[in-house]
Amino acid sequence: MSELLSRAEALDAADELGALRDRFVLDEVVYLDGNSLGALPAHVPDRVADVVRRQWGELRIRSWDESGWWTAPERIGDRIAPLVGAAPGQIVVGDSTSVNVFKALVAAVRMAREAGGAPAGGPREEILVDATTFPTDGYIAASAARMTGCTLRPVAPGDVPAALSGRTAAVLLNHVDYRTGRLHDLPYLTAAVHAAGAYAVWDLCHSAGALPVGLDEHGVGLAVGCTYKYLNGGPGSPAFLYVRRDLQDRFDSPLPGWNSHAEPFGMRPEYEPARGALRGRVGTPDILSLLALEASLEVWDGVPIEAVRAKSLTLTDFFLECVAAYVPAGRVESVTPAAHGQRGSQVALRCADAGTVMKRLIERGVVGDFRHPDVLRFGFTPLYVGFGDAERAARVLAAVLGEV
Ligand SMILES: *Cc1c(COP(=O)(O)O)cnc(C)c1O
Repeated sequence: MSELLSRAEALDAADELGALRDRFVLDEVVYLDGNSLGALPAHVPDRVADVVRRQWGELRIRSWDESGWWTAPERIGDRIAPLVGAAPGQIVVGDSTSVNVFKALVAAVRMAREAGGAPAGGPREEILVDATTFPTDGYIAASAARMTGCTLRPVAPGDVPAALSGRTAAVLLNHVDYRTGRLHDLPYLTAAVHAAGAYAVWDLCHSAGALPVGLDEHGVGLAVGCTYKYLNGGPGSPAFLYVRRDLQDRFDSPLPGWNSHAEPFGMRPEYEPARGALRGRVGTPDILSLLALEASLEVWDGVPIEAVRAKSLTLTDFFLECVAAYVPAGRVESVTPAAHGQRGSQVALRCADAGTVMKRLIERGVVGDFRHPDVLRFGFTPLYVGFGDAERAARVLAAVLGEV
């Protein structure tokens, strides 16, 4: 047995999170795509069946109260809260990440312009956006800028502090870059944006459930994130929106639907926003997806996010070591930072013919994904990926590269 294989076995044997894998439906495939679609927790199908058959089928309309459907967006927000370092009452779940980016960004511009929130230094007329962002965030930011009469300036996250001025209204940033896996400095960048009198909106799609975020600790004002990646909520499970408690009264949603009304069943022609995080709600929640997410979050019971982070770093280090040992020099180049403080929970390898290579990997039971134009992306979900998986993925990668 190779030295790396025996190390993988020892690391798996010592892994205190190793048993969590049994909470998921998995097979012999090495699944390194949990940063795109998390695996299915084993108890979720029965729970969803109960929601459909009993709550919908038998209780019907009574379920809005009796099954807790109406309050699910806030209740499930409170369930996600400890995973991202938020006290209760600040997160609401619903709509897609794209829609929540829109709500948060427009609300950020409105807050920055509000009397009291606008320090001297000129009108707040610019939005900065992470120049390497996932495309949807960039598209939404462009539209939000047009609607609010702002200009949009793409900036590399590291250049944001230098780009801030009295003209900046809002800054849309990713905590972890979806392509390279680079982790940005959330505490430092948040403080810099706030010091300029602007608001940062953080997209946590690739950090929620992968590493400690510390929203409250770092004074983040607004954040959004996905629940179908590291939170395993299922395909298209609704996203979350965090609005820091002291900003909630000023959060002026550009989508003020009846679900965020102070008295939703008053059916009034005038809009009056509710208090608290539920100001981020819009219309009728997507109950089936929402309750599938709620059930899937139970896999986190008793799992500290710090332990997940520690395993993620050891796993990605080990994978990189196996790649270095097995893959001939020069065939791949890691674009994921080696420094732990700058790494999310994925490894991205630049590789010639990456599209073909990933296709072959998948045929051989190693599932990652290809990101245009030349990136092999491997997501490591510590809840169900082990060290043996990492070793096997690197070994199969070396074999595939020997053929193409
Ligand atoms: C996955 C992801 C999204 C997805 O947005 P949806 O509206 O859920 O499709 C958005 N932003 C980032 C950074 C992502 O990684």
